[in-house]
Amino acid sequence: MARETTICGTDLHIMKGDVSEVPLGLTLGHEGVGVITEIGGGVTCFKPGDHVIISCITSCGKCAACRRGMYSHCADGGWVLGHLIDGTQAEYVRIPYADGSLHLIPPGCDDEEPLVMLSDILPTGYECGVLNGEIQPGDAVAIIGAGPIGLSSLLTAQFYAPSQIIMIDPDANRLEVAKTFGATHTLPSDDAAAGVMKLTAGIGVDVAIEAVGVPESFELCEAIIAPGGRIANVGVHGRSATLHLQKLWAQNITIRTRLVDTVSTPMLLKTVRSGRLEPKQLITHRFPLHEIMQAYDTFGHAAREKALKVILTA
Ligand code: ZN
Ligand code: ZN
Repeated sequence: MARETTICGTDLHIMKGDVSEVPLGLTLGHEGVGVITEIGGGVTCFKPGDHVIISCITSCGKCAACRRGMYSHCADGGWVLGHLIDGTQAEYVRIPYADGSLHLIPPGCDDEEPLVMLSDILPTGYECGVLNGEIQPGDAVAIIGAGPIGLSSLLTAQFYAPSQIIMIDPDANRLEVAKTFGATHTLPSDDAAAGVMKLTAGIGVDVAIEAVGVPESFELCEAIIAPGGRIANVGVHGRSATLHLQKLWAQNITIRTRLVDTVSTPMLLKTVRSGRLEPKQLITHRFPLHEIMQAYDTFGHAAREKALKVILTA
């Protein structure tokens, strides 16, 4: 039973028709917490009544990709929920390979709602942004995009004590939120490259995290990366971006891409339980499941509604 679920930016892309492989009439959603009502014959780690986090990535645990921890490329899984099979925006959802695709919520956890943030956005912001950016203590970091994913990178980047975290976004409200989440500086998108250079004594940042998914923001990462720096792409791209090799070829930089594997979810759950990470701050709106169209409207007009994550309760 899917108790609480949420809407992802990816769902909006699907609604717009950007993800052509999604069959018409599919139930969307790849995030949620719930209670198990029934298990299949192959399930050994869970039983009915267990409270669980549903991972956005399905993992068989046995294929070559899973054996190396790259669950996103599981031969019989990966991102399938709300993409190729019915997803979590429903009262009930079937999770294939439950043993590898669910995480037990320890008994006695009195507030499960924030744990929905562990289905996708926190592991995505952490694995694709922070881990791939190899943030080190003292680093200067820029995060382009202060939506839920960029903010998840901002929250988890602080595990590594960077000296600067510069958030860049056109939405002034999101930049205000970013300040309360630990950003050291915020910049509007206009002329952001010049602003970053000013803040870093003309050197640029050690880590640039792209959390938007448009060519302009990826090219901004190229413009502000310091020699030896790492560009970590998180955004979902539908168009090609220009790679400025004539400028970057001698700069010792690294460019990394990734689909979230959700290998970090158990670790992130521990940091949430200890209070080190507070995913509740990402939730701005709540709707009952039957008001899902209003929820989509709110999330689809995030700037107008000051929306980050929108919770749907079944
Ligand atoms: Zn998502
Ligand atoms: Zn697999």
